[in-house]
Amino acid sequence: MLFGSQTVVALRWLYPGDKRLVRAYRTRPQIADLDGLCSPPCVIREAACQCGQLVLSCSGEPAAVSLCHCLDCQRRTGSVFGVGAFFTKEQVMVAKGSSTQFSRGADSGSTITFHFCGVCGSTVWWEPEHLSSMVGVAVGAFAEPDFPPPLQATWAVRQHEWLHLPVEVTSHPKSPVRTTPRG
Ligand SMILES: [Zn+2]
Ligand SMILES: [Zn+2]
Repeated sequence: MLFGSQTVVALRWLYPGDKRLVRAYRTRPQIADLDGLCSPPCVIREAACQCGQLVLSCSGEPAAVSLCHCLDCQRRTGSVFGVGAFFTKEQVMVAKGSSTQFSRGADSGSTITFHFCGVCGSTVWWEPEHLSSMVGVAVGAFAEPDFPPPLQATWAVRQHEWLHLPVEVTSHPKSPVRTTPRG
């Protein structure tokens, strides 16, 4: 199993102090490796917007799945939290359509660029500047109820009071991001 150094940095951010991910990869040898070389059987999933104009093809398993309660994710999705699956850039390709982009600042001090359908408005994927080797893909866009669940949640300070997550989801009050702010 090859772990690229950028990917290891990304995983440390996605799962600070969490050994479960590495264990999962050790115990599931059929999983695609983290540098995007998809060893058989290789899962290919498609993330699509609601009108079907924009489709992103994702090969292999995501390196991480993360839930976010922040207000930006709430406004972006129209739901009360967002869930993203993080793939390496080598694992994803635009299968169909064209995206419109929107960039905003992240609490890390860097920028996130969202790619959404200009026709129906669904966000399909995003590129976090501070995780330049990774792409976040909207888990709902897979329309796959048995998609791997999130193992961590960020911005729990914004969590809706009625919402209770499974105990196996590690909650962080804010973002555990550890990057050097610009300037
Ligand atoms: Zn669309
Ligand atoms: Zn968020």
